[in-house]
Amino acid sequence: MHQLTLAEIARGLADKSFSSEELTQSLLGRIKQLDPQLNSFISVTVERALDQARAADARRAAGEAGPLLGAPIAHKDLFCTQGVRTSCGSKMLDNFTAPYDATVVSKLADAGMVTLGKTNMDEFAMGSANESSHYGPVKNPWNLEHVPGGSSGGSAAAVAARLLPVATGTDTGGSIRQPAALTNLTGLKPTYGRVSRWGMIAYASSLDQGGPMARTAEDCALLLQGMAGFDTKDSTCIDEPVPDYSANLNAPLQGLRIGLPKEYFGAGLDSRIADLVHASVKELEQLGAVVKQISLPNMQHAIPAYYVIAPAEASSNLSRFDGVRFGYRCEDPKDLTDLYKRSRGEGFGVEVQRRIMVGAYALSAGYYDAYYLQAQKIRRLIKNDFMAAFEDVDLILGPTTPNPAWKLGAKSNDPVSAYLEDVYTITANLAGLPGLSMPAGFVDGLPVGVQLLAPYFQEGRLLNVAHRYQQVTDWHTRAPTGF
Ligand code: GLN
Repeated sequence: MHQLTLAEIARGLADKSFSSEELTQSLLGRIKQLDPQLNSFISVTVERALDQARAADARRAAGEAGPLLGAPIAHKDLFCTQGVRTSCGSKMLDNFTAPYDATVVSKLADAGMVTLGKTNMDEFAMGSANESSHYGPVKNPWNLEHVPGGSSGGSAAAVAARLLPVATGTDTGGSIRQPAALTNLTGLKPTYGRVSRWGMIAYASSLDQGGPMARTAEDCALLLQGMAGFDTKDSTCIDEPVPDYSANLNAPLQGLRIGLPKEYFGAGLDSRIADLVHASVKELEQLGAVVKQISLPNMQHAIPAYYVIAPAEASSNLSRFDGVRFGYRCEDPKDLTDLYKRSRGEGFGVEVQRRIMVGAYALSAGYYDAYYLQAQKIRRLIKNDFMAAFEDVDLILGPTTPNPAWKLGAKSNDPVSAYLEDVYTITANLAGLPGLSMPAGFVDGLPVGVQLLAPYFQEGRLLNVAHRYQQVTDWHTRAPTGF
């Protein structure tokens, strides 16, 4: 049963091949048996999952239907879940039980999804390797000595290892697409504002966006359908109708104009990944797409701009964790200053502290113009580059990451080398565009992803192209040995 995709599960539940309770029992057993190798879950909510499964079976027996009714999911541990610990991968929130559900969580629960638990992640979603979690690193099921990517590394490893069919992730600079690429999944970062951020613990509010992680584009479409939509509780959520994401999955690609940015294929890209990207382009050409070279001239400035803007927003968002209102509080503080200093010093890990310091520095009176304001100007230039490119092409294609998954610990002492791995993903966050990563082959037995970027609100187009590609390739069906 664990090999089934979400779409297959929906059919199996509809034709009563199995019940949600049977499926839930079976996957909970798999998590118990296999997750100790991976560490992909922070919390497994056994009783709650079984209750939700029985409730879904009862709703179905009473005549309700729907592709998500009774289907299993897990949430990245920064989506607030009422009555369940929501740790954000941090000692700071190790004892935090959310008093309410995030909008994404409640929408999917209302649709009947069964939450198996909360997945491991980089602390406060800062990272690309899932090594900064207070709960220990996550292992990549394709090779347990390698990282699964981050920050949604727990969701990625769990879905790749067939512990469940789909999970939620969030993407501030690539945290859905990059771990999807490194574990052979399909992951979609929606347009900024397409999915409510309410109840999603903030890292960098102008960049954060929740989205689906699955093995196929078809499953991403089903899950996005349940997640997307306007929410009055999030002032940046956009009041646009949600299209039927599954309706056009099979639309022909005849005449689709795909742009390949020349800046994507320079130094720093593993040549074997470049070859796989070109092979995926050939497949799409055979399906009728037309390929053009384009240019994104300001791409080289994206990493420095992102690593000013994201820490600046983080330093502000994380100031609320002060040991007073909620979160970790140090033992026996001498006075108020000592309470703040030690609660934050002991509650936050090194990467989070580094970003708070960088962000506070970039926002400080003497440096605001030189760093933060400059970075915002670069952000606009990057958006303008995309707007110009989308005059000529319908979609932009390239690698998701410059390298396959690296060995655990390999970049731990060199944060900048990890930041450089975000080179292809962060531009979409800076511009607010939707992006998708899909499996496109293997290098040394490790998965490689191809990234597609589209104009605002064109998630349907991304899913259509990825689905057509997945009908003529089988990379996405491959499973890691032992899982
Ligand atoms: N790797 C990037 C960072 O560390 C992106 C993380 C994310 O998207 N949450 O900030």
